[in-house]
Amino acid sequence: MKINRAGSGPSSWAPAEQFTGTVRRDPLIGSEAPGRVNAGLVTFEPGARTAWHTHPAGQILIVTAGRGWVQSEGQPRQEVAPGDSIWFPAGERHWHGATATTAMTHIAVTEYVDGSAVTWEDHVSDGDYAAG
Ligand code: MN
Repeated sequence: MKINRAGSGPSSWAPAEQFTGTVRRDPLIGSEAPGRVNAGLVTFEPGARTAWHTHPAGQILIVTAGRGWVQSEGQPRQEVAPGDSIWFPAGERHWHGATATTAMTHIAVTEYVDGSAVTWEDHVSDGDYAAG
């Protein structure tokens, strides 16, 4: 058994190439082989969001604080709140982030496939973010 104590790993700022606005990532825990799952805490300031992206084995989000927006391509944007859980199927193009006015924190649970857990695409424009 392995216990990762809260705060034992350093926080990091998410890179501007893949995110818009201020996004902080705090590591939680990752499995050891043959497991391939990773869980991390991600905090988005108001207006902050991921770029469009896909996950090779899908992704689970568990909202823990604030108010967020999530959107998959071709579907309307949806608001999420603490206690809500979201599943994005493998390969489904999507983004997630805070609402325009309220910060949001979620736990992200993602599996690696051949060493990769995400494929990044273009940023979510201000217009697309606002329009949902
Ligand atoms: Mn995602």
